[in-house]
Amino acid sequence: MSISSKIIEIKNELPSTVKLVAVSKFHPVDAILQAYDAGQRIFAENRPQELKSKVETLDQMGRGTDIQWHFIGHLQTNKLKMVLPYVSLVQSVDTRKLFDAINSWAQANGRTIPVLLEMHIASEESKQGFSKQDMDALLNDISTSPDKYPGIEVKGIMGMASLTDDTEQVRQEFASLTSAADEFAQRYAASAKISMKERSFGMSGDYRIAAGMGSTMVRIGTAIFGERQY
Ligand SMILES: *Cc1c(COP(=O)(O)O)cnc(C)c1O
Repeated sequence: MSISSKIIEIKNELPSTVKLVAVSKFHPVDAILQAYDAGQRIFAENRPQELKSKVETLDQMGRGTDIQWHFIGHLQTNKLKMVLPYVSLVQSVDTRKLFDAINSWAQANGRTIPVLLEMHIASEESKQGFSKQDMDALLNDISTSPDKYPGIEVKGIMGMASLTDDTEQVRQEFASLTSAADEFAQRYAASAKISMKERSFGMSGDYRIAAGMGSTMVRIGTAIFGERQY
């Protein structure tokens, strides 16, 4: 099946409340354009250099200028300038240090960067993200000292379930994400800098489960573009 038919098929499957984020990492600009021509406008990358070079290539072609780019990978603080000028959302803020560095960069560049905070929900140690406790501590700091954070806006939460065929486990992990987001939404309802509206969870293997559990954004690569060309 072509990229465009897959885009159309997945969009038809998703409730209108769930945005499709096309994860184009390790796929060429040509594949991005096929998805674009099928109507896709939100794309995500996970490596700074690859994001920057794809944006520049498309720019030179005069194509895809209305694409909204999301960053979804581990972001080192010395790579911010390769990412932040180009993105409408950083989904993968996984440490306090990164949060502070984005805030500083944004202040220096007269920007406000929308972010999601990544929560560690998988059983695998290797996965990134804040514990619920550490995320709560950061949110508490933002809500009590918003003036420290003029460069950043929290739009919600992101998470990645374990890579497993055990759908019950995936459900439990997604449920833990949603319940944390609901709790934070209540606790920080008065903070202008904190929203918990966006809940980014669900990938190629588990987006159908995610779509039925309160996800507002699924991040899909393989099911659109095929196997990645490493
Ligand atoms: C690669 C990636 C995806 C997409 O994974 P697929 O299984 O190919 O859909 C989603 N989220 C993150 C954070 C990723 O790194």
